[in-house]
Amino acid sequence: MSTALALHARGIETAILEAEPEDRDRSGSRAIYVHGSTLRTLERVHPGLGTDLVEEGLVWPTRRTMYRGKTVFDRTYESPGGSGEIPHFTSIPQVVTEQYMLEALEDVGVDIHWEAEVDSVSSSAENVRVQTADGREWEAEYVVGADGGGSTVRSEIGADFEGDQSENAFIIADIADERINDDHPDLERLFHYDAPEADGRNVLLVPFAGGWRLDIQCIEGDDPERLSSTEKMREFVGDIMGEEYTDRLDWVSSYYFLQVMADTFIDEHRRVLLAGEAAHLLAPFGARGMNSGIADADEAASAITVALNARTAAVARDEVELFAARREKAAEYNLEAAGQALEYLQGENPITILRKKAAAELSDHFEVAGEWLDDAPYGPHGSPPIVSTGNY
Ligand SMILES: Cc1cc2nc3c(=O)[nH]c(=O)nc-3n(C[C@H](O)[C@H](O)[C@H](O)COP(=O)(O)OP(=O)(O)OC[C@H]3O[C@@H](n4cnc5c(N)ncnc54)[C@H](O)[C@@H]3O)c2cc1C
Repeated sequence: MSTALALHARGIETAILEAEPEDRDRSGSRAIYVHGSTLRTLERVHPGLGTDLVEEGLVWPTRRTMYRGKTVFDRTYESPGGSGEIPHFTSIPQVVTEQYMLEALEDVGVDIHWEAEVDSVSSSAENVRVQTADGREWEAEYVVGADGGGSTVRSEIGADFEGDQSENAFIIADIADERINDDHPDLERLFHYDAPEADGRNVLLVPFAGGWRLDIQCIEGDDPERLSSTEKMREFVGDIMGEEYTDRLDWVSSYYFLQVMADTFIDEHRRVLLAGEAAHLLAPFGARGMNSGIADADEAASAITVALNARTAAVARDEVELFAARREKAAEYNLEAAGQALEYLQGENPITILRKKAAAELSDHFEVAGEWLDDAPYGPHGSPPIVSTGNY
């Protein structure tokens, strides 16, 4: 959807092939943290989309971190940061973001072909031919494979995922709470190390428009199936959030996170480009999955626009290669960042364990120690380098 909006904004005719039916149910725990840069991209390609998401979402003003029952860091911001109408971030469920994008696509008249599952893709120097499972054939000058982690397009261009998987499982639940909106008085994001209420597991609690995201990190020997059962989750929710929330469980899932990227983001003819989870899968710490997917989409649209207007085939190829160079570099950076967060969280390393303990002790006297504990679960700040030449 992001690619189609970004292509449309650049004056390029585009259509979407979607495997599932129009009335599919996309609810479930997925992205809630949308970076300011993503909101600005969406606002640029479809004026009003970024600000609509800001209005619909919320900015939690307080960051709090606890260590074994004691607060080691808390800070409340007076302003939502960012610039102009776009704050530093917004917290909104992905299903709502997708609904707004769908409306934006309808608004500008991009065709979405539902129940059009891509089955095969073959490219040549001139174009791309796509066949859908219903036997229909499609032809385009360029194709962006944004078909998620199990991407058919990725395998059709002969690209492979490379990387690893998290050691521990994570249990993620969404708890409905219609009172959670911008006017709620106590909106804070809480990270609790070794939380006594979760029998010593790490707990992350984040508000979003309409509810709470609860993330419990399994420890060695845990059976994620058992821990994510409704009965056990109700117990966790009651202990962590209070009895009034036990009946509000919306979704529970358990995950092992993959940390992988495709060995190439483009086909041999430079006509097929991969974006989002078709190109990379990241652990969610630092919220880089959907955010980086939207950056891929915008850059793919930019490269295709230049390529379509190029007077020589070599320049067109070059533009697509530049897309791949930039976004592969960005994915490497994002993988490294999410990997650092994951390693820190899983923290079997005795030095990391000791550093956390020491920082918790020092936090009474030095705010910087508590801030380090608060920051580390999300990986380093900053965004991937943008490489203007592709030569590195
Ligand atoms: C618990 C959790 C929390 C997360 N939190 C965040 C967060 O806070 N911030 C963030 O940025 N990211 C977050 N993410 C990641 C984010 O949800 C994903 O990165 C994002 O949804 C990927 O989008 P995508 O469009 O690449 O793939 P998908 O959302 O998987 O979409 C792929 C689409 O392609 C369709 N499709 C598949 N195969 C075919 C085919 N053969 N033909 C046609 N269509 C096909 C599918 O039906 C689907 O509509 C989180 C993920 C999880 C699981």
